[in-house]
Amino acid sequence: MTRERRGLVICYTGDGKGKTTAALGLAVRAVGAGLRVRMLQFIKGEWKPAELKGLALLGDRFSMEQLGLGFVTYKPKHPYEKHLEAARAAWQQAKVEMQSGAQDVLILDEINNAFRFGLLDPKGVIEAIQARPAELTLVLTGRGAPPEILEIADLVTEMKSLKHPYQQGVPAQYGIDF
Ligand code: ATP
Ligand code: MG
Repeated sequence: MTRERRGLVICYTGDGKGKTTAALGLAVRAVGAGLRVRMLQFIKGEWKPAELKGLALLGDRFSMEQLGLGFVTYKPKHPYEKHLEAARAAWQQAKVEMQSGAQDVLILDEINNAFRFGLLDPKGVIEAIQARPAELTLVLTGRGAPPEILEIADLVTEMKSLKHPYQQGVPAQYGIDF
């Protein structure tokens, strides 16, 4: 166990379940270690996942905010332009927070999907990642992380779906899936 602090870039991607929950597990661990953690959710925002309430129980070392408008391509409630606006505003906010030094761990939940849907350009994001304070750990989640992100990340885990209850027609379960 080393106490030397070096910020990592962690990417959880792939089509299997566990990306956001891996980030949340990491948040619990980090708060336990006295670190300050913040999660910004891209795309998500149309409904309130249980982690909003659950993680409030961690106290003031954890906070999160939803900055998205919900599904972009599947049954979208908003036109693509609105998603574009929301993603860009979310990214401007994330960039400011990345530089602020106010966090030890910053989770950009579903940002990979924002790249995948063409809502954000990975290039600018990578520049900001490389210019961040050296101690800040970043966690990027979401399916279909672009190759440029995989390249600059220190850690990449691909969740691979072998089986999912959804395939048996079981709907998403509150508290388990969201
Ligand atoms: P979780 O938030 O449970 O860790 P995730 O972040 O890996 O999941 P997302 O791609 O963000 O998964 O998908 C969000 C929702 O889709 C969750 O309700 C999740 O259970 C569900 N989901 C994840 N993987 C699959 C899959 N292979 N088939 C169907 N639904 C899935
Ligand atoms: Mg997710």
